[in-house]
Amino acid sequence: MTSSEDFREFGKAMIDYVADYLDGIRDRPVLPQVTPGYLRSLVPDEAPEKGEDWRTVMKDVDRVIMPGVTHWHHPQFHAYFPTANSYPAIVADILSGSIACIGFSWIASPACTELEMVTMDWLGTALNLPKEFLFSGPGNGGGVIQGTASEATLVAILSARAERLKREEAKGKMDRLVAYCSAQAHSSVERAGMLAGIQMRLVEPDENFSLRGDALNAAIEEDKEKGLIPFCVIATLGTTNSCSFDNLPELGRVCLEQDVWLHVDAAYAGSSFICPEFRPLLDGVEFAESFNFNPHKWMLVNFDCSAMWIKDSRKIVDAFNVDPLYLQHRHQGEIPDYRHWHIPLGRRFRSLKIWFVMRIYGLEGLRKHIREQVELANQFAEIVQTDPRFELPTPPRMGLVCFRVKASNVVNEKLNKKINEAARIHITPAKIRDKYILRFAVCSRFTVSTDIEFAWTEILRNLDLISINQDTE
Ligand SMILES: *Cc1c(COP(=O)(O)O)cnc(C)c1O
Repeated sequence: MTSSEDFREFGKAMIDYVADYLDGIRDRPVLPQVTPGYLRSLVPDEAPEKGEDWRTVMKDVDRVIMPGVTHWHHPQFHAYFPTANSYPAIVADILSGSIACIGFSWIASPACTELEMVTMDWLGTALNLPKEFLFSGPGNGGGVIQGTASEATLVAILSARAERLKREEAKGKMDRLVAYCSAQAHSSVERAGMLAGIQMRLVEPDENFSLRGDALNAAIEEDKEKGLIPFCVIATLGTTNSCSFDNLPELGRVCLEQDVWLHVDAAYAGSSFICPEFRPLLDGVEFAESFNFNPHKWMLVNFDCSAMWIKDSRKIVDAFNVDPLYLQHRHQGEIPDYRHWHIPLGRRFRSLKIWFVMRIYGLEGLRKHIREQVELANQFAEIVQTDPRFELPTPPRMGLVCFRVKASNVVNEKLNKKINEAARIHITPAKIRDKYILRFAVCSRFTVSTDIEFAWTEILRNLDLISINQDTE
């Protein structure tokens, strides 16, 4: 029942299932039509006493699981931001699951540490990050795979906090530490501040939703007057609401002058920097102490894979260093022990999926993916602009188009609700400065030009079902 012979059959059957699933995903409804609690009635109350045949279990995937799946890789899925899915990454995860090592130190699986170092240098080079961030660079820089951008931000704040609390002026004054981010930053940034037990000040961005140097500097000066200790700034490249970019060169200079740690969160947009035409948006990263983006969003490396670099890795390692005897080894100090670089001890062999994806697509293939998705978003934005009933509250950016009906928030809320109830396409809304907007993100690698046309037809069909005039405020 659990022999390698069975595994060969079971595994091959699953590969076929996965290939069929993705080949046929277009024919499924993008959103499930189930209600909360649907699953419990489909399965027994308790786990089986006797093991079952894998074929029986496989049958239940269609009966129990699939009806309750939101198909993120459906060509008509345009909600949130993309999450990656590619065959090389899926296959790499099989290998990772088979080696099933816990790579907390070098000796715990040398390949796990060393491939991560190499692939993080490959990625950093592909993004044209300053050499100071790379293992092969001149200093103590290097990259680490975190589970999520949320963790990367938290690790950056905790490292900055530890560094600052060591200094004379901040010793014992944790309650006076303040970090800064744009009011448009992702909620995980505010949350990281809470988790770290420091004050997070949200600073208003300019009219283009870009946080500027003057506003940041004014906030920092005001807080210093009050006796607070500014220690960290989190800049966003590609906000979740509208994919706007903070002014990194301006923020960088302020951070340099004010002597505070600059962390850059480019969770979604970061993947685009492998294309030379988008790389200027990363200018100013040379001022940063740490930088992060999610290959698991837009670079075809399946979740979870959040790439983080730090210029001086000693600042992470020193911040959380504990060294019990049972984790020590004789090569300690010669090569990173990644257990010091993040919050958990255990870590999966995640670099395999970066390695497979980068080799099998090549940088050329990855750039092509980014460019095609940007082009599809532009196609959508152009169609929206041909209809005078609609407006683009912010310019299209990367694979994201924000749009709305020129009417009240209520009308736009209704339209959003209708569209998602019909479930032929899936979008999610956002609110920017009290304006309710609809977000259209190009997400699936299966989305093609005709899907964009289909989405637009579907949006108009639903608009016809509600009355615009009824609720204009
Ligand atoms: C998606 C996103 C996050 C959160 O990403 P996780 O990896 O899920 O933590 C953070 N910041 C920005 C700008 C994002 O777009």
